[in-house]
Amino acid sequence: MDKDEKYKIKSQKQKEKVDAKVAKAQIEKGVMIVITGNGKGKSTSGFGTVARCVGHGYKAAVVQFIKGKWDCGERTLLEQHDVPFAVMGTGFTWNTQDRSLDIEAAESVWQEAKKFLADPQYHLVLLDELTYMLGYDYLDKEEVLNALKNRPEEQSVVVTGRGAIRELREMADTVSEVKEEKHAFKAGVKARKGVDW
Ligand code: ATP
Ligand code: MG
Repeated sequence: MDKDEKYKIKSQKQKEKVDAKVAKAQIEKGVMIVITGNGKGKSTSGFGTVARCVGHGYKAAVVQFIKGKWDCGERTLLEQHDVPFAVMGTGFTWNTQDRSLDIEAAESVWQEAKKFLADPQYHLVLLDELTYMLGYDYLDKEEVLNALKNRPEEQSVVVTGRGAIRELREMADTVSEVKEEKHAFKAGVKARKGVDW
């Protein structure tokens, strides 16, 4: 058997395996995706999913639990496509040095998140950096988990941030751990507009 024939047989077998898996996936429902870990690419993945959603004409909403740079490119673009953004009003403890202020800010943006998670018109909700709110007990864990669990059946949700707690990982349908191998910043390269925000 020559190389081409071998390749053909191998590809055919591979295709059969994939087709069988595709045929097996029959459930139609919104999914919960957790993108965690210490490498770069968590928020970008979340926003990429929002872009997919909006590109298909579905509605999406974004909640940013840690205030990013005010001029983050995704926000400017997505607001032009009627994607509502709810952004935490303050920075975080290492900026504000005031835990009670942070908790207040977290709770206030959480009220917005809750509305999105109860509204079936949203095909997708991105909860960017939510993991920290649970890791630091800024939000009531049970309340957050319940809102996620009881969201509309067709609604998907993406949760990003380092150190996702066990309960989030267990509840999710898909969990990806982004592992850092290198990061430009560690070699002294400044965060870049249009790349890092
Ligand atoms: P991104 O928004 O680029 O997808 P991320 O969401 O995975 O990053 P965060 O921890 O939210 O990671 O990082 C916020 C900012 O820090 C971003 O500007 C990102 O590029 C940068 N960053 C991400 N990972 C690292 C890292 N391992 N070392 C240094 N900076 C990082
Ligand atoms: Mg992020």
